[in-house]
Amino acid sequence: MASYSISAHAAVLPGKDTPVPATLTITNGKITAIAEGVDEGADVVVAEPKVLLPGLVDAHVHLNQPGRTTWEGFATGTAAAVAGGVTTIIDMPLNSIPPTTTLEGLAEKRAAALETGVKCDVGFWGGIVPGNADQLVPLLEQGVKGFKCFLINSGVDEFRHVEESDLVIACDALAAANTNALVLFHAELEKHAHEGAEPSHESPDAYSTFLASRPESLETDALALILSLARRYPTLRFHIVHLSAAEALPAIRAARSGADGGSPVANLTVETCFHYLTLRAEDIPANATQFKCCPPIRDETNRLAIVDAVLDGTIDFVVSDHSPCTPELKKGDFMSAWGGISGLGFGLPLLHTQLAGKVTLPRLVHLLATAQARQVGLDKTKGSIQVGGDADLVIFDPTTEYSLSEHDLFFKNKLSPYLGRKLVGRVERTILRGEAVYVADKGHMGVSGVLV
Ligand SMILES: [Zn+2]
Repeated sequence: MASYSISAHAAVLPGKDTPVPATLTITNGKITAIAEGVDEGADVVVAEPKVLLPGLVDAHVHLNQPGRTTWEGFATGTAAAVAGGVTTIIDMPLNSIPPTTTLEGLAEKRAAALETGVKCDVGFWGGIVPGNADQLVPLLEQGVKGFKCFLINSGVDEFRHVEESDLVIACDALAAANTNALVLFHAELEKHAHEGAEPSHESPDAYSTFLASRPESLETDALALILSLARRYPTLRFHIVHLSAAEALPAIRAARSGADGGSPVANLTVETCFHYLTLRAEDIPANATQFKCCPPIRDETNRLAIVDAVLDGTIDFVVSDHSPCTPELKKGDFMSAWGGISGLGFGLPLLHTQLAGKVTLPRLVHLLATAQARQVGLDKTKGSIQVGGDADLVIFDPTTEYSLSEHDLFFKNKLSPYLGRKLVGRVERTILRGEAVYVADKGHMGVSGVLV
């Protein structure tokens, strides 16, 4: 590919609090120069109100291939990603069959991705399950970004949850090999499972019934275990996926500062999801199982506290946790339906709309791209507009108003709690390594993603 230039009246660049005029030179898919100011003679000129952003990163996505391709797949999942400006996703180790808990599982997943083709760049998480400690260091050497585990039933038989003793074996293996591996927790723990009554299954059509079955204490109990591991293994890194419970926030802050009496915890990061920032339990209709996920969407007071934690940096970044299934599995009531929300690609317009006046575009880019690229070790090439980085770019119009319709859903199963939602801000064009891969009103072009 030859060299070309993109000039923007407003571009989000590292270290700048507001979008600034900039002209990029792109050569062979890389950004090779960034000049201040606008060049009206550039090959592509991005005029206001449009803004040039780096391609977004979503570090929490379930594409479910191979094995459950009726739920999602590499083709449809990555199509949804680029339509929302997401140029890099990291695929979770479970819900595919086999799960990514062995070298063979990783090889099968990579082969399926390459055979199918991907429209954005794709990386992989490994998983920790009972008995696979000997696979962890080899998986890291093969490029997985870290390891997800569950402290509670994962929902699928082939990805068993772990006990503290399993985690000690796994962390010992990772620490002994001098890795600084990242361990990700689905942070719900049934510490008192045998002490209390079974959750009520009365009125399973009411969201409140499901919400009551997944109290905040599951998350705070899990946090206590995670903090003890973080202190026990200071050379490893620990991460809480999809934090929902505001009750956990004071303990996270206290652990980081050492105000809880222990050593300050510097090796813990936390993510939350679009849905915990934009949806409220009070608004969820009976049997609207497209809103069901674990941990659950909670009430408005909780939502506001989670928003504050994103704004003050307690929560490091925001992901989709795109976790679809077939419409069949979403039938029925809240207690029986599959839990998982489809939202891949909606983060930028959702948060730009919901957090209007509270965050700037550069701050959104930090939450949706830069911080996540750094988390998975791709920050030299992804997550910001930088010389030497991949020319993964998004042209975003922050002023376009629309309602999200089925038209905007590129993932396989067209079920989402965001259908009908009014949004402000639309991705006009997504560029992957210098090439347009999605243009609004025209659609997708090409399959040029690679495995990262
Ligand atoms: Zn997930």
